[in-house]
Amino acid sequence: MKEKWFYESLFASVKLGLKVRKTVVSEKSVYQKIDILDTYQFGRVLVLDGIVQTTERDEFIYHEMLSHLPLLSHPHPERVLIIGGGDGGILREVLKHPVKEVFLVEIDEKVIELSKTYLSAICRSSFDDRRAKIIIDDGGNFIKDYKGKFDVAIIDSSDPIGPAKVLFSPKFYRDSFNALSHSDGIFTQQTGSPFLQGKELPYAYKTLRKVFPFVVTFLAAVPTYVGGLFSFVFASKGIDPLKIHLSEIEKRYRKLKLETRYYNPEIHFASFALPTYIKGKVESKRNA
Ligand code: SAM
Repeated sequence: MKEKWFYESLFASVKLGLKVRKTVVSEKSVYQKIDILDTYQFGRVLVLDGIVQTTERDEFIYHEMLSHLPLLSHPHPERVLIIGGGDGGILREVLKHPVKEVFLVEIDEKVIELSKTYLSAICRSSFDDRRAKIIIDDGGNFIKDYKGKFDVAIIDSSDPIGPAKVLFSPKFYRDSFNALSHSDGIFTQQTGSPFLQGKELPYAYKTLRKVFPFVVTFLAAVPTYVGGLFSFVFASKGIDPLKIHLSEIEKRYRKLKLETRYYNPEIHFASFALPTYIKGKVESKRNA
């Protein structure tokens, strides 16, 4: 029988290839093409418009870092906003914290529906949690109606093409600033592979610096996100994550008895250490 392979279409000259056992779902929604593949190496994989979003085998790295780093940096996060995140992985991790309310704003209802059915190993029962408010809307539209409401905003969107483009704009960053609680609101967002998507991180960093007093980059390596290190930005109204002491994060982590497979207080701080080529990308923007 002829082997079946999926090749990601994110980069013109670099291709991630995954050997496919079976195509579980392949359909078009109003916004994008949705494929869920059973693969030999990474289990079930969610693909949107030919681009890998998450896999059962390595999702924990991305979901834990983009959730626990901002939530443990905040003294007592109660109201959390997730934009995107239709696979439920970020929601799952956020609900490990004693938060009161989590709004998940996903533009494509089909992604949530198919994730609940075919990616339950990732979302588990998080969509049914009584603290979770699931809203089908464009995050750029939703956020402008909120002032000072959220302690932490986590932007788990696809790349800045198609429906997610608006989530990497000066207006969206300003609206996010206004939607966060006044003194210590925190905003985090994925900003792609600095090596292969060289413009995403410096652009987000520079544009966020015009709005937030504190903007810092953190990194993690996600095997199915091609390009080696993957980047995220942390922006805050009043919290400089580099000024928080390791012992304080350890205390908060232990107190919550958080079960994690990648995140821990040491990797929390190590993730802020940037290789020179990435440092150069953001520092040159520091005063721009
Ligand atoms: N971890 C993945 C990554 O880094 O590429 C993202 C995964 S998550 C499935 C991305 C979600 O963002 C998708 O379900 C997509 O429909 C949603 N999305 C894209 N643009 C959006 C928007 N403007 N508002 C809300 N959700 C959006």
